[in-house]
Amino acid sequence: PASGRSGVLAGLDADQAEAAAATEGPLMVIAGPGSGKTRMLTHRLAHIVLEQDVPSSACLAVTFTRKATEELRARLLALLGERGAGIAVESFHSLGLAILRAHGARLGLHPDFRIASEAERRAALVSALGVTDGRAGQLLKAVSVLKRSGGQGAGEEAAARAALAEAGRAGGFLDFDDLVVRAADLLETHPEIAALWQGRFAHVVADEFQDVDEQQYRLLKLVAGGGALCVIGDPDQAIYGFRGADAACFERFARDFPSAPTLRLARNYRSSGTIVAASAALLGREARGITRPMGEKIILDASPDEAGEAEFVTATIEDLLGGHDLLAAQRERGVRSPAGALGFADCAVLYRTDAQAAAFRTAFDRAGIPYMKSTPASIAGHAGVVAILAALGAEPSDGDLADRIGHAAEAARRSGTADAAILAEARGWLLSLAASDAVAGDPARLAEQVALSTEADFRDARADRVSLLTMHAAKGLEFAVVFVVGLENGLMPFAFDGTTDDSVLAEERRLLYVAMTRARERLFLTRAGERSWRGAVRAFPASPFLATLPAELTARSGSAGKRRPRVQQLRLF
Ligand code: ATP
Ligand code: MG
Repeated sequence: PASGRSGVLAGLDADQAEAAAATEGPLMVIAGPGSGKTRMLTHRLAHIVLEQDVPSSACLAVTFTRKATEELRARLLALLGERGAGIAVESFHSLGLAILRAHGARLGLHPDFRIASEAERRAALVSALGVTDGRAGQLLKAVSVLKRSGGQGAGEEAAARAALAEAGRAGGFLDFDDLVVRAADLLETHPEIAALWQGRFAHVVADEFQDVDEQQYRLLKLVAGGGALCVIGDPDQAIYGFRGADAACFERFARDFPSAPTLRLARNYRSSGTIVAASAALLGREARGITRPMGEKIILDASPDEAGEAEFVTATIEDLLGGHDLLAAQRERGVRSPAGALGFADCAVLYRTDAQAAAFRTAFDRAGIPYMKSTPASIAGHAGVVAILAALGAEPSDGDLADRIGHAAEAARRSGTADAAILAEARGWLLSLAASDAVAGDPARLAEQVALSTEADFRDARADRVSLLTMHAAKGLEFAVVFVVGLENGLMPFAFDGTTDDSVLAEERRLLYVAMTRARERLFLTRAGERSWRGAVRAFPASPFLATLPAELTARSGSAGKRRPRVQQLRLF
């Protein structure tokens, strides 16, 4: 329904417009997937700048990944034109970095401090504590959770934390988590610096608030000060509990800002009625807010093994995109399909663990389906990126950054430091990063932006490729066609150390909810009867989550999706 408003709020429904226009004080917006939270956020900022005549430099939007900041920036430019460029759009980490770059000397930070890579930090622990590289990796994770939750830790974890701090002081580096924690410390202990930032931003909005951890919330509150702070999120999509975030941030906000109203957005604009109803059923809820036709049923598929699962996904993509001829034509053009027709970029395969991607790469290679060849957990650890950055250091430092990246990639290829395909992909990606505003042709800033990037950032929105992503990296995104794969007990829900307690089960359920609600038109849920897992072939029973989906919303594969004859079908549902 139209809001009856004019101007930038005209593209919103009444609930969205009310939230966008409530700019007087603190505000909490809680709403489900696809309800237009992110859309409301951008229109709210446009309304503030265009219709309330607030300078855009007085607005700050904070979100999770570097990629999400880029998408927000693009949407703001589209809505606001040039005036959109002045709005500060930061991830929590880039916000922390900006504060530390400006005032870090007050904390005794090295003026040119760097962000250490994971490999560097692991090496620091190996040398300081004499532990193995594997143990160092575990300790890094434990220290990260401690920092995010504000805990102190004991024993070897406390020793690791101290060793990292010492190595950082000596080497002039910080790690990823430090950016948020140290910036918050700085603002807390230097009220005059906090006042500077608070004076700068009259309006602060934070998207994906359900995944904000204690330290990020502390930083957000310190930067917003008494200004209008608007937090937006969905507790049902909280998926970072394991990293110290918990949806209790909504309660904390309500306690800290007792006068703040809570507004809700009621309609789902993203997904077909069937997808809305099935994902509600997963959480044991009635479906509400359906705006779109029911559409196609959700297809369930069971294959004997992971190769069969990948074959099913491959054959279904070929079917949906119109078979081999169209596939070949699209590949040749290397561009997104014309408006209206489905392209590869409209399809995503979402899995619980990176290890599951291999079978899809193999099947896609055989069928000639383009995809992002590597989905690293951290970009800074990506073999191609590491090799090119290292070679870039040896390049003469004058000349155009894009040219130098090209030369460095060529040098890395000649020296054989990384696989050619991996290097080519890293070069796709580094060039687009080099061209972004944040880098502005400066190689130190390039390295900094690499350090600030995460898996979700390693996608090139312009390329017509199928997205292979972990469920975690898919949050906030949407695709016409989504395959959620590996719906097996032990994998989804994931059995950490062989067990799954209630709180883990609840978070795994929310993670599947996030994955299913990425789909606009078609949703496929697949599983394999057995798969190679940690060095052995293991049988996996069906995920218990499948039983929560109402039978009338689902159909078995076979009628849909041509399966290659050599793959027999299991009747496991
Ligand atoms: P998530 O929780 O997954 O992040 P969200 O609540 O942020 O979802 P958006 O991504 O903002 O949802 O919107 C989902 C889709 O619905 C987008 O394609 C958006 O353009 C569309 N949409 C949102 N509101 C409206 C509206 N009032 N009219 C038409 N389309 C809308
Ligand atoms: Mg969103």
